[in-house]
Amino acid sequence: MKRRNLLAAVGAASLSGLAPAVQAQAYPTKPITVIVPFAAGGPTDALARVLCQKMSEILGSQLVVENIGGAGGTIGVNKVAKANNDGYTLLFTHMGTLAVNIALYKSLPYDSLKDLEPIGMGGTNPMVLVTKKALPAKNFAEFQDYVNANQKTVQYGMAGIGSASHLGGLMLNSMMKVEVLEIPYKGTGPALNDLVSGQFDYMVDQAVNVLAQINSGNIKALGVSSLKSLPQLPNVPTIDSSGLKGYEVSIWNAFFGPKGMSKENIARINDALVKTLSDAAIVKRLTELAVDLPSKEEATPAALATQLKASIDKWVPAVKSAGVKPE
Ligand code: ASP
Repeated sequence: MKRRNLLAAVGAASLSGLAPAVQAQAYPTKPITVIVPFAAGGPTDALARVLCQKMSEILGSQLVVENIGGAGGTIGVNKVAKANNDGYTLLFTHMGTLAVNIALYKSLPYDSLKDLEPIGMGGTNPMVLVTKKALPAKNFAEFQDYVNANQKTVQYGMAGIGSASHLGGLMLNSMMKVEVLEIPYKGTGPALNDLVSGQFDYMVDQAVNVLAQINSGNIKALGVSSLKSLPQLPNVPTIDSSGLKGYEVSIWNAFFGPKGMSKENIARINDALVKTLSDAAIVKRLTELAVDLPSKEEATPAALATQLKASIDKWVPAVKSAGVKPE
């Protein structure tokens, strides 16, 4: 081989050897789409936007939230499950769309455990039972009596089959032994607007979405879904202590990618998430919204995989025993 050709061959070989490392370091080089499978202005969207803004700064590339609501979040999740796994399409969703809905749909277009790569936990949020202002009940006991006596006309709002608000509502209704009409929305952002204007009677939704409207007096809070009352709502007792012993629902939210997303790219997003979760301003803001933030250990991809499996094991039998038929 002539010297010039030999040099060219060596150069090509070393370049191709370097290429993967250079590429891995470079990710991300362009904006990343983060699909939120619910309407804008709801809790999943709000949490995603707070986290993505800081993560964008850390990554030096924009994380752009895209809202794809409908069918209890399954449309948006499916889009990510079928997306290119190059790291430029991610999912931010909650446990309803990946665990609870397994019990509620006859067939889902994706397999939560096989079609997605866990990236990291974004935070857990308790729920609050909220009613329209005009509902004639001042506390949970009066609410229960009212719903019981008016089952034919009472309506509760939720974000579609398998959503968090559906889980919160169906466990509540099942434990109260009532059957009421459910009004599905593409997210509880739009549902909350309708609750404020009194178009349906009640909803169980993540604290993130409802605290401001409760504090402004536009809706009433009659119970919280955690076993301890919330510092943000000191006068609202737990549903568990108000007559429905054992009622407890908290909603975790997390980042996922399509199956096969590279370990390096997962680690890069996870690193930005972990840094975001320890940022003082983010911690303050999310704590005010009753979001319980994961520790560094709880925020790893492996911990999220374990949490997803645990949630499936917990909620699928619980929902089935609540007697809800899959659709
Ligand atoms: N809170 C909704 C749910 O019930 C989701 C949302 O609108 O973010 O799942």
